[in-house]
Amino acid sequence: MSRRILIAGNWKMNMRAASAASLAKGIVDAVGKNSPVEVVLCPPAAYLHTVSEATAGTSVEVGGQNLYPADDGAFTGELNAAMLTDVGCRYVILGHSERRQLMGETDACVSKKLHAAMAGNLVPIVCVGETLEQREAEETEAVIEKQIRGSLEGLDEVRAAGIVIAYEPVWAIGTGKTASKEQAEAVHAFIRGLLADMFSPGVAEQIRIQYGGSVKPGNAAELLAEPNIDGALVGGASLKVEDFAGIIAAAPSA
Ligand code: PEP
Repeated sequence: MSRRILIAGNWKMNMRAASAASLAKGIVDAVGKNSPVEVVLCPPAAYLHTVSEATAGTSVEVGGQNLYPADDGAFTGELNAAMLTDVGCRYVILGHSERRQLMGETDACVSKKLHAAMAGNLVPIVCVGETLEQREAEETEAVIEKQIRGSLEGLDEVRAAGIVIAYEPVWAIGTGKTASKEQAEAVHAFIRGLLADMFSPGVAEQIRIQYGGSVKPGNAAELLAEPNIDGALVGGASLKVEDFAGIIAAAPSA
């Protein structure tokens, strides 16, 4: 089964309206029509509309960086799945390690968001990853298993096939340290096996598993060539057209 490579840019809390529009336009031009790679831009909520306008009618998709799992109501400062789709999103990043660490998001919280995303027709990109201490203590697989089982709690087989997992070792995010292709592939293969156990081998084969953590044009090709690495979730290198376009160009074509 061939899974289409998915390259997503997580702009985090960066950009202003003008720079967001020009970055999005630059990516649209670089991607062109009929790209074998699926490309998603995840700007800050304030610029979702700007980026949706800049990518309208193109193959470049838009995603949110978070959502709140409730219908409209008294939730000051939050936004829900309906608002994300209304402003043109198809994807939403959930459980990023920065949100887990800085905002105290738990697996149970990620699971609620996952169900809200899917009920709202968004494709969730569920982030998991171990810290350096956990890796050094040889707890990587146990940590990943706990995060995946907890974050996907209550998900049925039919819906599971449509999600995306992003394996992002915390020690590699924004640090310039990338997992080697062997380290990344080993965890991706472990995740695929876990998904086969939780759902079915057929469903596990359909789920795309992205790698994230200091992906750059210079290391993308070797990571994306691994059999269980189906794309990249890119932070820092998604903020410059040439870097992000270089990562997209490094993806194997089909
Ligand atoms: C991320 O935050 O999802 C990420 C992978 O960041 P960076 O590429 O900067 O390591």
